[in-house]
Amino acid sequence: MVVHAPPLGVGACGCWGSMGRWMSAPSPPLSPVSFLFLLLLATPRAWASGYETCPVVQPDMLNVHLVAHTHDDVGWLKTVDQYYYGIKNDVQHAGVQYILDSVVSALLAEPTRRFIYVEMAFFSRWWRDQTNATQEIVRNLVHQGRLEFANGGWVMNDEAATHYGAIVDQMTLGLRFLEDTFGNDGRPRVAWHIDPFGHSREQASLFAQMGFDGFFFGRLDYQDKLFRKERREMEQVWRASASLRPPSADLFTGVLPNNYNPPEGLCWDVLCADQPVVDDPRSPEYNAKDLVSYFLKLANIQGQYYRTNHTMMTMGSDFQYENANMWFKNLDKLIKLVNMQQANGSRVHVLYSTPACYLWELNKANLTWSVKEDDFFPYADGPHMFWTGYFSSRPALKRYERLSYNFLQVCNQLEALVGPAANVGPYGYGDSAHLNEAMAVLQHHDAVSGTSKQHVADDYARQLAAGWGPCEVLLSNALAKLSGSKESFSFCHFLNISVCPLSQTSAHFQVTIYNPLGRKVDWMVRLPVSEGLFLVKDPSNKTVLSKVVELPSSDNPELLFPASVPALGFSIYSVTQVPVWRPQARPPKPWPQKFGPSVLSIKNEYLQATFHPDTGFLRTIEVLDRKLVLPVSQAFFWYNASTGDKQSDQASGAYIFRPSREKPFPVSHWAQTHLVKTALVQEVHQKFSAWCSQVVRLYPGQRHLELEWTVGPIPVGDKWGKEIISRFDTPLKTLGSFYTDSNGREVLKRRRDYRPSWELNQTEPVAGNYYPVNSRIYITDGKTQLTVLTDRSQGGSSLRDGSLELMVHRRLLKDDARGVGEPLLESKSGVWVRGRHLVLLDTACDAAAGHRLLAEKELLAPQVVLAPGGGPSYHFGAAPRTQFSGLSRELPPSVRLLTLARWGPETLLLRLEHQFALGEDSRHNLSSPVTLDIRDLFSTFTITRLQETTLAANQLRASASRLKWTPETGPTAHLTVPRLDPASITLQPMEIRTFVASVQWKVSS
Ligand SMILES: [Zn+2]
Repeated sequence: MVVHAPPLGVGACGCWGSMGRWMSAPSPPLSPVSFLFLLLLATPRAWASGYETCPVVQPDMLNVHLVAHTHDDVGWLKTVDQYYYGIKNDVQHAGVQYILDSVVSALLAEPTRRFIYVEMAFFSRWWRDQTNATQEIVRNLVHQGRLEFANGGWVMNDEAATHYGAIVDQMTLGLRFLEDTFGNDGRPRVAWHIDPFGHSREQASLFAQMGFDGFFFGRLDYQDKLFRKERREMEQVWRASASLRPPSADLFTGVLPNNYNPPEGLCWDVLCADQPVVDDPRSPEYNAKDLVSYFLKLANIQGQYYRTNHTMMTMGSDFQYENANMWFKNLDKLIKLVNMQQANGSRVHVLYSTPACYLWELNKANLTWSVKEDDFFPYADGPHMFWTGYFSSRPALKRYERLSYNFLQVCNQLEALVGPAANVGPYGYGDSAHLNEAMAVLQHHDAVSGTSKQHVADDYARQLAAGWGPCEVLLSNALAKLSGSKESFSFCHFLNISVCPLSQTSAHFQVTIYNPLGRKVDWMVRLPVSEGLFLVKDPSNKTVLSKVVELPSSDNPELLFPASVPALGFSIYSVTQVPVWRPQARPPKPWPQKFGPSVLSIKNEYLQATFHPDTGFLRTIEVLDRKLVLPVSQAFFWYNASTGDKQSDQASGAYIFRPSREKPFPVSHWAQTHLVKTALVQEVHQKFSAWCSQVVRLYPGQRHLELEWTVGPIPVGDKWGKEIISRFDTPLKTLGSFYTDSNGREVLKRRRDYRPSWELNQTEPVAGNYYPVNSRIYITDGKTQLTVLTDRSQGGSSLRDGSLELMVHRRLLKDDARGVGEPLLESKSGVWVRGRHLVLLDTACDAAAGHRLLAEKELLAPQVVLAPGGGPSYHFGAAPRTQFSGLSRELPPSVRLLTLARWGPETLLLRLEHQFALGEDSRHNLSSPVTLDIRDLFSTFTITRLQETTLAANQLRASASRLKWTPETGPTAHLTVPRLDPASITLQPMEIRTFVASVQWKVSS
């Protein structure tokens, strides 16, 4: 994404204040890299890596650190490949390959120049294209600190619509490339999220756990920024976890002065139109003197907002430096001219620097810093301009991303459990690498955020689909090996719309259910079938109860049967159609009338839900064994998207949410209902309108109510953009508070019309109270808690006490002027989206145990793979195996297996996580520290050596160290690294421990 949008709604742009930003063509290329090789050899290579290579500063002057940088979106207005190669320059002039070529040449031309690079999705691709000679040159530049990597993830990930597991994976991928390529020299010291639209606390916590020394970003609420400037709190220590012991999740965090752009008038890129430095006094265009005095004034003003005698200027922007010479030539002159003024008494020293070198100076200043404990959501760049729409934009892509996370973990686990036989087997070559890369790309701040152009969003989906293929081959190889049977496996990608050719046409098939959880799971399998009766047998060949359910909304009946699957393993069920007499014509399944004969209700052993007889809406939820009854009304509403009004031109768009009025319209005042009651499921089908329906569902043994909504295509024929919400209204006295998760992990308290660290002037009572919901939102009166889990990231809020809402879908007719340049219509006919909300009602002290474990089960749902059955055996003569577990014992409920993946030919990456927060669960003791013996935990391999690393696995934990900062809350304890004993691995609440394990796979039959 691009820079701050001017309040008048002009399209955002990469270079402020200049005209015709994307208009000019780049200058001819610089001299080839090889030409300057000799020059490089002349420079000394004796400098040490890290901060030791930082430039000399002037201790008694104001030091202005110029940071030459480019911001390269991994897809936005163009696709990733179009950006890399410089295709479609009529849409946006941008070609990353030329940027890197050009920067390397420009760095070689003058040894004081420095540059930072961020996005490994691009850099790794460019690196592979280089000759050995150029790679050696670049290694030297990195070693000397002249080319520095900041952040170093595969992408600069979004912080609002991302799940922490996927963030950790994408950072691991990028940082691993740097570690493998440059070793310690390439390891970024600084996290750099200059463009994401608001900042989550969990992101800061993860960065701290990855070993970053500091963090810089560009975007925060305009009011917040004003207060910070006044109070000189642009830089502070972010205490990013309420559970982890400081300073493990403390992260020094700085707000950049001008988002990430150069100061006004000083943009010297081909994409800008500012005047170059003319330093020849004889020229009629001579401007050096004025420029220098302008710069000195600017530096002094900017310096006032920061606490040390150092300040940073970001010299670059979106896709800049394609002709790096233009930037560097002018910066060379600026530095020379400004520093010459020191002879006339100027106290400003300007230098080429990097974020790490700037951070190093702040650290040396040895100040005491204020502490922040909340987050930077929501983000507004002006009155009425809340970037809270993208929390929900493109809900189908958001779900596809989350589903792909689930599938990637399954793929990773089987690759680790089975070893090389998973990669090469009867089904060909398969691996997890493609999906891992595609998922990393999806974390970019214009990808899963839903803020790219339509054709780019389509390309993101294409990349995910392409990544699934090699994983399906891998799964087939692995399942055949583990089960001992070479089946013709079939992956049903359309189960969400009740389509699966194999189960719908076969009289006999087998169902393999793989469970990626560290604990056994009970799961209701649902498969579309043709009509009739079916006999389902479990892995031990015992018949299990099954039912075929006819659904009013679909012509495809579904077969239901309960399955039980061991930890990190599978169970194979067989399904056989039983011939029965079939009537020629099936009676029609009309939607029943509005009024039913009695109160509708569904019930199992734990829960009962009743529905209003007049409206058909949910009316009460009762938890039978806790004697808890709560009136809960749930229905769908829509906000009319603003297209601008008297108060502000701002329209609702892909980024921004702005309803035209506070009160949403009901989709309908009542719902047509249809009741399905069988021994395996009870459902109330609600039809609110032609484009909005829902199934409220209860399976036996379930402690939650499942609401499966289907919304779309949203009609916009009335020329009104619509933003659809599902709202729950209860009498709970919630006193303006509600709770949302941060990237699916820790939970933050939210208060309506309130910000914890500054006094809010609220301009949008709806949009200004929206927060990202990655996995859960809840309300509580201290005794009773209503929690709603989501199956993807959505925006949510509580706009009245006792009420809770989630935005499920949006379709808009106007662009919101933040650069994407398209209204969020998705397609001519719109998109039909289906999703689920899981509703938990519980006492406040039991609630965490419920929502933590259920969220884990939903995120890592079982993978269902079908096959006709009867395939040849994998090992000649060996009996097939119908049940398998990769664990020799289950993990305790508080422990999540966050990562089990191949790392090297004989190494695995293993992450174990305590998934409860400190004090969150006192009732069941799930918040207590837990100790594991992992020596013989896995059944398919033996761990021969274990090394503990930092979170992104790019440093050994024992040798990693971070810069120390003094927070105003007092000095933090010195954290000692515990001795690593595989027999006794202790996890504190919310702690993640990361290991690289050398393994030997067991030879199995
Ligand atoms: Zn961006």
